[in-house]
Amino acid sequence: MAAGGLGRPGRPARGGNKQMQKTINNVKMTLICGFITILVLRGTVGINLMAFSGEGGGDAAADAKVAEDIERILREIRTDSDPDDEDQPVVDASLSGNSTAMPVVEEKNYTLGPSITRWNAKRRQWLSQNPGFPSRDARGNPRILLVTGSSPGPCDNPAGDHYLLKSTKNKIDYCRLHGIEIVHNMVHLDRELSGYWSKLPLLRRLMLSHPEVEWVWWMDSDALFTDMGFEIPLSRYEGSNLVIHGYPELLNKQRSWVALNTGSFLLRNCQWSMELLDAWAPMGPKGRVREAAGKVLTASLTGRPAFEADDQSALIHLLLTEKERWMEKVYVENQYYLHGFWAGLVDKYEEMMEKHHPGLGDERWPFITHFVGCKPCGSYGDYPVEQCLTGMERAFNFADNQVLRLYGFRHRSLTNPKVKPVANRTASPLLNKEASLKMDAKIET
Ligand code: UDP
Ligand code: MN
Repeated sequence: MAAGGLGRPGRPARGGNKQMQKTINNVKMTLICGFITILVLRGTVGINLMAFSGEGGGDAAADAKVAEDIERILREIRTDSDPDDEDQPVVDASLSGNSTAMPVVEEKNYTLGPSITRWNAKRRQWLSQNPGFPSRDARGNPRILLVTGSSPGPCDNPAGDHYLLKSTKNKIDYCRLHGIEIVHNMVHLDRELSGYWSKLPLLRRLMLSHPEVEWVWWMDSDALFTDMGFEIPLSRYEGSNLVIHGYPELLNKQRSWVALNTGSFLLRNCQWSMELLDAWAPMGPKGRVREAAGKVLTASLTGRPAFEADDQSALIHLLLTEKERWMEKVYVENQYYLHGFWAGLVDKYEEMMEKHHPGLGDERWPFITHFVGCKPCGSYGDYPVEQCLTGMERAFNFADNQVLRLYGFRHRSLTNPKVKPVANRTASPLLNKEASLKMDAKIET
């Protein structure tokens, strides 16, 4: 059974956002200059007045407050404007003659780091020397590290931060229930690879720093677990190094830019993955390289709007242009929702609770609901904010009910953060413990 939902319907032209951001920064800068001028004048007058009146205790507090405000505004400006913007790499974007030719985008000297060789052997040796860090978990399964991340600064609005927290709480719950470790990253390890590209240097660094981890599993911050009982069928992937949701037909025949979704994928900790990341990264350096590479990708892939290079399009492009090199080790998964596009799912949760139960992972009970295009932390999503936030709230509570059930509670409704008890209180809670921990039991409605 194939799970539907094609994935991202369209990313905004992020160059436009950047322009807007610059304009905002300019306005801010003008305001701050005016503000400082007023302050200097006010300060001068204040000193004069104080000299004559011989007092000024109240003023000192007010001045401290003003100074604090300035500090804060300056800090905000510093986080918004990016001094690295001027420091652009050299780009060679030229069109060559033949029909399949794409503009060549090359960033001189750019790499993810010193080239890694013989990682499989080095990792194996480390594992044999460090039996305290086994590559299998307590249940004997290959060790998985779930990795997510968000921008270093605050969201554009408080609701964004609220849903970021809910999304991370949701991931912590899933990981705790399934013995998976979790990392939430909030820095850009490589200043060239910011935003959605930041997962590349991060995954590489984590694989190298955690030789005990067999799989790193990237999951976007706007993706929620909605099946708390489903587990990744790892045995299916023994011969694979990259597991990603998508459709082979869309990839190979249509060259669709939504053939795969990079919002949730697993990468094996091995030499092949190091090389994949090295081959994937060159379109990522921000600024002119990323802009020029965006043109290559829009020309190469079907349905892609014109905007800077994104990690998803770059991966699809790489796998299509170097099929022989990579595809043998890529598992394109669509038997369950390793990524499920939110718009077709969030209105059906009640129906799912009526008819089905957790543990299925597919359209009957989606494993992951991904809010592609919502940009809950930013200001320029492709969908109305209200629709996105309501959807996220519903997805969160749908999942949270599966967690709260273990403790005898459930949300009053999928839009209500309040809960009510569902199980009868008992003086012998351990009697039915096994039954109450059954993750794939039907949810009582
Ligand atoms: N991200 C990050 N650091 C940043 C910005 C984004 O780690 O500074 C991550 C975050 O987890 C986000 C993901 O990159 O979910 C991809 O971006 P987004 O989900 O907005 O793209 P979409 O899925 O809508 O195409
Ligand atoms: Mn996303």
